[in-house]
Amino acid sequence: MLPSIEQLLVLQDRDQKLKAFRAELNALPLQKQRIEHALAASSSALEQAKQRAREVELQRKKLELTVQSRQEQVARYKSQQMQTRKNEEFQALSNEIARAETEIIGLEDQEIEFMEEAELLQGTIREAEKAFQGAKTQSEEQLAALKTKEDTLRLRIAEIEAERVELAKAVDQNLLFQYNRLFTSKGGDAVVPIEHQVCTGCHMKNTPTVAHRAKSGREVVTCEQCGRILYWQGD
Ligand SMILES: [Zn+2]
Repeated sequence: MLPSIEQLLVLQDRDQKLKAFRAELNALPLQKQRIEHALAASSSALEQAKQRAREVELQRKKLELTVQSRQEQVARYKSQQMQTRKNEEFQALSNEIARAETEIIGLEDQEIEFMEEAELLQGTIREAEKAFQGAKTQSEEQLAALKTKEDTLRLRIAEIEAERVELAKAVDQNLLFQYNRLFTSKGGDAVVPIEHQVCTGCHMKNTPTVAHRAKSGREVVTCEQCGRILYWQGD
């Protein structure tokens, strides 16, 4: 194989690694965001349950106060009843007392409903708290793993970049320019094998002459279709 092709293949291997590592590095912020969103959702579920519990307790207390004031009212009606001598007024007060007592029963039923909901909510809060703690631990582990991955990637990229500078120095500058352009425009494969006259980059057929020139390995040969640098693999 032509020494310059061998050099380009090593360079291409490093460039492909750099490309893959940089893509992995670029994907990290989104992965981090997903982990943070999952934790935020878990935290928000817990907060919602707590907020509902506070509302329920507030409503229950309000009912309790209303019941208390109705009971006081009933007591007042009863003492008025004892003082009155008029039968009509006594009857009217009896009606008021009956109405207030019916209202009290209704209010107490509502209070019981709120108490039952509060009890259910305590269970919900305990579950949500447990889920949140689990999500928190998990997200901390995941974020730590991402950080380790990021550090490793940055280190590997720096190493390969340094190595690449040295490799590139050895390559003919015109050929390097041609290779760099191809690597960028062809999405990462600039130097490809030709197999049975077919360029493995664009999968198009070349003339037997091109295939023969590539096989002889005396010069840099490019694909007639896509312009990629070709080399002969095998025998
Ligand atoms: Zn081609």
